[in-house]
Amino acid sequence: MRRIALSIALAALVVPFQAVPQTPAPRVVLVQAGHVLDRPGHPARGPSTIVIRDGRIAEIRSGFVGPTDAALAGAELIDLRDRYVLPGLVDSHVHLTSDTGGVLSQLEEVQLSPAAKAYNALANAQKTLSAGFTTVRNLGDRDGVTLALREAIHAGKVVGPNIVDAGTSISTTSGHMDPALGFRDDLRDALDRHDNLCDGADACRRAVRLQVARGVDVIKIATTGGVNSRIGVGLGRQMFDDEVKAIVDTARLYGKKVAVHAHGVDGVKIALAASVDSIEHGTTLDDESLELFRKSGAYYVPTLSTVNGYLERIAANPNAYAPAVRAKVDWRIRITGESLRKAVPAGVKIAFGTDAGVSKHGRNADEFELMVKHGMTPSQALEAATVNAADLLGLAAEVGTLEAGKRADLIAVDSDPLHDVTVLKNVPFVMKDGAVFKDQRGS
Ligand SMILES: [Zn+2]
Repeated sequence: MRRIALSIALAALVVPFQAVPQTPAPRVVLVQAGHVLDRPGHPARGPSTIVIRDGRIAEIRSGFVGPTDAALAGAELIDLRDRYVLPGLVDSHVHLTSDTGGVLSQLEEVQLSPAAKAYNALANAQKTLSAGFTTVRNLGDRDGVTLALREAIHAGKVVGPNIVDAGTSISTTSGHMDPALGFRDDLRDALDRHDNLCDGADACRRAVRLQVARGVDVIKIATTGGVNSRIGVGLGRQMFDDEVKAIVDTARLYGKKVAVHAHGVDGVKIALAASVDSIEHGTTLDDESLELFRKSGAYYVPTLSTVNGYLERIAANPNAYAPAVRAKVDWRIRITGESLRKAVPAGVKIAFGTDAGVSKHGRNADEFELMVKHGMTPSQALEAATVNAADLLGLAAEVGTLEAGKRADLIAVDSDPLHDVTVLKNVPFVMKDGAVFKDQRGS
């Protein structure tokens, strides 16, 4: 009896305390939009109001609803009635730490401290967000710079796009990610310190586990040589079957996807046969590889923008690239786009990715123009940069469309991007997680 009385007395003490509201009222934002491409690939909605609560989309109503609606009293109103609103864009392939190239990037690797690279990465991340890309996948850095940036952005310490991060890319010794390529032999010990090179299946398992231990979201590997590798051994396959299999099996053990850098078709096929999730670049594709894409459901990420980066650097300085690299650059300029022209009619799934870092950060949307030039419709290109890229990144429940429950990551442009994709090169309005990052609309 006494215990019951005591409980009642305690409850009396506790109840008034609980009655005090513990959380602030939700922050409600209403975005009135003239046209909403809420689900790219489907017809656009007409005049609509996107109701955002605490950074997430609560609902999309037809017509223009304002804070005069009793249920929405006190909401903040954003008038985009004369604009086209669409989901924040997703770039599946960036390198935020740099956008120098050729000889300059080689110098940077021995001159810049990780701290200096971190400031570069932050500036590049904000250029990317400003261009309308609210989510990116960083496919390879060194020193953990973009992993730390991912955390800082997530914690709200700095503003930037959501980052899905691969940590340091894995290749074989002499492969595309060997940091000692092009330097004197006696510098190898100083430069090769990232444990990201593997020769043989066991070493490849360990290389994946080391990246997992750093907290990466995805594993990035190179099965072929790279255009920018400072070595003239070509762009064909450089990994054995058992090495690729060991990497993919180990990644799967930890629930990680695998993104594969591959130019030569032999390196594309070995990766697709091992059921990887995406082929990056895929500069040469044949019928057999297209069939493997369809069977495995892997995405193709064309990174056509690299060519822009090469052409601009060569125009500024004919000696921007060492001779061994320049031969590969010239080849890539000649051939880029051919694979996309084959992949689109073959029904291969395409995800948008630029390789920004090779091309300029903040100019990510230049890729749309190239995708359309090489066989995609504007609608397909937009779908690749939203729905498809979100799926590839494992974020389909969070981003890629404007639907209830998803993050309020959205952009607005002046005219219909399905009529002319180049309008996406100038994005005047960017919202991430319900907060306006950029609003440069003219009156
Ligand atoms: Zn890359």
